[in-house]
Amino acid sequence: MSCSPERDRPMRITVDDRSQRLRERLRERLERVAHLRCSEHGLPVEAVTVYGRENGWFDSMWTTCCDGLTKQAKAIVKDRC
Ligand SMILES: [Zn+2]
Repeated sequence: MSCSPERDRPMRITVDDRSQRLRERLRERLERVAHLRCSEHGLPVEAVTVYGRENGWFDSMWTTCCDGLTKQAKAIVKDRC
């Protein structure tokens, strides 16, 4: 049975924003998040989905190993461009 390692996969990024500006503005922050590793589990963030809202605000949904890593990721990306 083959079991491919999940941990070295790049973070999946989905940006739901009509203008595409959000993706551009968040590029650097998301790159930083992609390099995060959970201090407890040693795992990277698996995936993030960003939903654009009005006036530069956005919501983000994270797929991570635990809340601690989600909090770290959110602290970097925040809620506004
Ligand atoms: Zn963790």
